[in-house]
This record gives sequence, C-alpha cells and structure tokens, in this order.
Amino acid sequence: MTGTVVLDVDGVLLLGGEPIAGSGEAMAELEAAGLRLVVATNNATRTPAYASERIARLTGYRLDPSRIVTSTMAIGRMLRPGDEPVYPMAEPGMAETLRDGGVAVTGDPAAAGTVAVGLDRSFDYDRVTAAARAIHRGARFIASNTDATFPTPQGPAPGAGAMVAAVATASGVTPDVAGKPHRPMIETVAPLLADGPVWMVGDRPETDMAFAVAAGWTSVLALSGVTARASDVPAGLEPALVIDRLADLPALLAQLR
Ligand SMILES: [Mg+2]
Repeated sequence: MTGTVVLDVDGVLLLGGEPIAGSGEAMAELEAAGLRLVVATNNATRTPAYASERIARLTGYRLDPSRIVTSTMAIGRMLRPGDEPVYPMAEPGMAETLRDGGVAVTGDPAAAGTVAVGLDRSFDYDRVTAAARAIHRGARFIASNTDATFPTPQGPAPGAGAMVAAVATASGVTPDVAGKPHRPMIETVAPLLADGPVWMVGDRPETDMAFAVAAGWTSVLALSGVTARASDVPAGLEPALVIDRLADLPALLAQLR
C-alpha cells in the first residue's frame, strides 16, 4: 500500500497527557502496511524533537522528528524580508523552533518585525499589551493557529485562538494564520508526502477537515477528541471517512485497497 497518513496529535494520538488507546499500535500497523506517517500539529508550544519524544513516551511509537510539522515551522515559511526578528508571544518551544529554522527571534517587542502569537499558558495582560503595541507600531501579526480550544481529559481548554483573539481585538489587526487549515501549513507538509493518496486524520472539523479539503486530501474524522458525533460536523466539512479512534484506521484502509 502506498500513500501518506497525516496525523493530528491532540484528540487523535493523545488526549492531554494521556495516549488514546491503540494509537501507538495503529501507527506501527499503518507503517508496516507501507504507508508513510507524517504528524501535522497546530500546537506551537513544542519542538518536533520534543513532540516526537512525547508521542513515543505516551504511545510507544517513535516517529522521527523530521516527520513532524508544527504550526511554528509554517510561521517560518511565511516570513518575508523585513519581517524579522520575530517576537514570540507563546511558550518557549516557539522561539526554539524558529531559531532551529534559522529565524531571528527577539524578546524585545519594540524591536519586533513580526509578533507571532501561539498557545501561551502564561498569557497575561502585560503580554497582550506588549504584543498589541508592537503591532500598532507596524510589526506584522502572525498567528500560529486559531483553534478555539484543545481537548483534555477534563474537557476543552482554551487554545491559541483565544490568545490570538485578545491580541487581534487589542490591536485592531487581523492576523495572517500559519497552521491548519491554512496554506503555509499545507506547503510545509507537502515536501514530506510519499507518492500516492493522502489521508488526513483529525478531530476538529474546522481545522483538520478543512485542511484536508484545502489540500485535496481524503479527510478522516476521529471521534476521539473535540468532536463526539459525526453529525456535529458543520455543513461543507463532512469527512470522507469517520473512525471512533485511530486504532480503527488500519483495518478500514485495508478494506479500501
Ligand atoms: Mg486535534
């Protein structure tokens, strides 16, 4: 079997700090069937190396960091001359990933060519003030993603979109968005794809199903994250395939051969 399975992380492989049952075994089965696995996560707080380590520790399946794409890497692709240095309003993984990609980063909002906003669990009034003022002064505003929430075992937690909305409201500027379902993320994932069909597995219709539609890939909705029922999916984003969890995918794809 040839082709690529692009995997979301939160709600597909993991839920908060816990694995979704069978996700590690499913990844091993998909790879054994000849499919290439690529992870595409909007989570901007972690480097690919850290994400690889975390997925391995929790699911037992180790995916090389070179097969992991984060929305921060898509931010790097969007930068034009004059957009650097970047002031990250996000957790430290964003600055580390940008630097690894050769992007100049600053901790001084007054020096920023770009303000990049991502999930920030230390989010506070002073950070919004610094980010909005830099944008007022002319810095470009890029959002890692606009996901409203991410799933945890205790229920949805505020996602990057909640922080992006605060900065957008305070600055009066609408950001350019890097992550799924937007073009920069498609362009960042594309070089990693194998020949053949592409299946995009995710739990969030407006992020993952829209990403599949925009890229021309087959959408697979996993009901193990923020979406409990396929009937909850908004019109226009209906998935091609629905699975309860990733563990169901190897058998389903084998049937389609
Ligand atoms: Mg997800």
